[in-house]
Amino acid sequence: MYLHPAARQDLDNPLGLPIYECWFCPTNWIGFSGLLYHLEEGRCVKRDRIRTLAFDTPEYGFYGNNLTDENPFFCFQCRTQFPQVSHLYHHVEQNPSCSYLLSPSECLGALRDFYIEYYECPGSDYVSY
Ligand SMILES: [Zn+2]
Ligand SMILES: [Zn+2]
Repeated sequence: MYLHPAARQDLDNPLGLPIYECWFCPTNWIGFSGLLYHLEEGRCVKRDRIRTLAFDTPEYGFYGNNLTDENPFFCFQCRTQFPQVSHLYHHVEQNPSCSYLLSPSECLGALRDFYIEYYECPGSDYVSY
């Protein structure tokens, strides 16, 4: 089974990343990348919703190419490309030279706040069982 690096993290959290609780189920994740990885799996929100939402912000030109590209996301600092938003966040969380992008005034900080605001009022994206 393929495991994203974030999925292997446990309670040791050497980078001191913030812990995020899923809005829809009682799970906790180390770093915003961990939460995004969980949401991208499509169990708590509609599959692909995280990807398409990333292109709904005014800042998307700083981290997004085209939604139809094989790697729609990139790091503004080092230009590495990624297939999923969670991979991009994982990259900047792990790389000190790129992590400034997570600060609230930068593109990935803005996107993180956008997701948080969006899901505090989940509307029709909530998948119930
Ligand atoms: Zn969940
Ligand atoms: Zn980078």
